[in-house]
Amino acid sequence: MTGRANSIIIVGGGASGVVLAAHLLKSPNPDLRVTLIEKRPHFGQGIAYSTLLSAHVLNVSAAGMSAYADDPGNFWRWLLERGLATPEQAPVYAPRGVYARYLGELLDDLEVREQATGRLRLIREESLSITPTASGVEVALANGTSVVAHLAVLATGHDEESAQGHAIRMGSEADTALPPDSRVMVLGTGLSMVDAFLSLEQRGHRGDIIAVSRRGLLPSPHRKGNPIKLDVADIPLGTQLSYFVGWFRDLIRENQKAGIDWRDVVDGLRPFNQKIWQNWPSSAKRRFVEHTKAWWDIHRHRMAPEVYARVTEAVQSGRIRLVAGRVVGIIAADGFTVEVQSRHTQRLETFDVARIYDCSGIVRDISTSSNSVVRSLVDRGLARPDPLRIGLDVSANCEIIAGDGSASAKLLAVGPLTRGTFFEIDAIPDIRVQCARLSKQLLG
Ligand SMILES: Cc1cc2nc3c(=O)[nH]c(=O)nc-3n(C[C@H](O)[C@H](O)[C@H](O)COP(=O)(O)OP(=O)(O)OC[C@H]3O[C@@H](n4cnc5c(N)ncnc54)[C@H](O)[C@@H]3O)c2cc1C
Repeated sequence: MTGRANSIIIVGGGASGVVLAAHLLKSPNPDLRVTLIEKRPHFGQGIAYSTLLSAHVLNVSAAGMSAYADDPGNFWRWLLERGLATPEQAPVYAPRGVYARYLGELLDDLEVREQATGRLRLIREESLSITPTASGVEVALANGTSVVAHLAVLATGHDEESAQGHAIRMGSEADTALPPDSRVMVLGTGLSMVDAFLSLEQRGHRGDIIAVSRRGLLPSPHRKGNPIKLDVADIPLGTQLSYFVGWFRDLIRENQKAGIDWRDVVDGLRPFNQKIWQNWPSSAKRRFVEHTKAWWDIHRHRMAPEVYARVTEAVQSGRIRLVAGRVVGIIAADGFTVEVQSRHTQRLETFDVARIYDCSGIVRDISTSSNSVVRSLVDRGLARPDPLRIGLDVSANCEIIAGDGSASAKLLAVGPLTRGTFFEIDAIPDIRVQCARLSKQLLG
């Protein structure tokens, strides 16, 4: 268990970093010092909320996006107060850029409030490494200076590494203008593919989009509902994956017979998802990631209804073609000739496309992270990948586990970096609970 600490450095000022700072600064402790380090020009944006496109809306309704675990209506009230939504409109899926504004204002308010106390320091600089010292930690910055504190919390989020091979990231430098009628390929059929489609539309692109993933599945739409009430005792914990999946399918069937939408069952399970994950043996976790996650994701991580309507219209009109299969060969000439093997027929199909976008997901093997602060911790044995290599190995208290298996009292992590331990920790409703717990643990 981590001891009491007064000075805390948060590395990464995206949503997780800002939400953690806000929770820490709720403490009345006059000796508290929070330093938030962010390499981008703006805090609270990160990869998810830096988009300026109004069609890129949140995939969680405003009612679920408050930064505060103990004040779930905070974001919704913020929208209402600024006339950005009306009560009749609920559920509202606000543009993600608006959410960045909310987090930015929240931090501005904290900065003003803490000006006299000096409890908050914001640093716009890249952090290169963190080194434990006798009394705490030293964080080296790209400008050659360093900052010290009792402990550091890593909130560096998603790996921004540019895509591999011939595929490029949408919005990256390589994403230059395209002839509007050219055909493009998107690797992935999930929410990032949907983002890419909306961006292409915004740019006036009219050509066909071939979207390829192993199963070719599109995320489902949200629908207004009421999650069913479950008790932890109802849930089979620690079973084999097949038993759990069977139980969950039966639960959905029973509820559907009673006229309840499957979404209300999926959402009813949500408070227990981390517990379910943590109780599974590693074999079940591995099987889930390999075989079940794609199905789970399209039911659990849903689209705003208006976005779903636009995407399905494009699928029905043939503008987007969803292909279940895998890319087995790419020949680059004038554009690309891509060979895809169909999942169902095993037949090969060839597509000539002008560009290939990588929307295949943001989870990479953490030991090959492009983020120097993460990689240097792993390289020096101060951190290690979790058994599935989808994040850093951390304890249930967010302490980073070193190569020798010891949990650190000085190095901690929050947000998507901790998905190996918490699994369901990408979205704000989970991140804010994690940040509230960690603040309490660190400051009492
Ligand atoms: C496209 C997309 C849409 C999403 N939409 C939603 C949604 O609608 N609702 C929802 O609840 N969740 C959504 N999510 C989930 C999302 O993961 C979380 O909501 C949240 O953005 C995670 O924030 P983070 O700060 O942990 O990570 P990130 O957003 O990745 O931010 C990490 C920050 O750390 C900074 N950083 C990294 N390394 C360093 C370094 N070495 N030095 C200094 N700074 C550094 C980065 O510049 C960045 O600002 C979405 C995710 C994506 C990718």
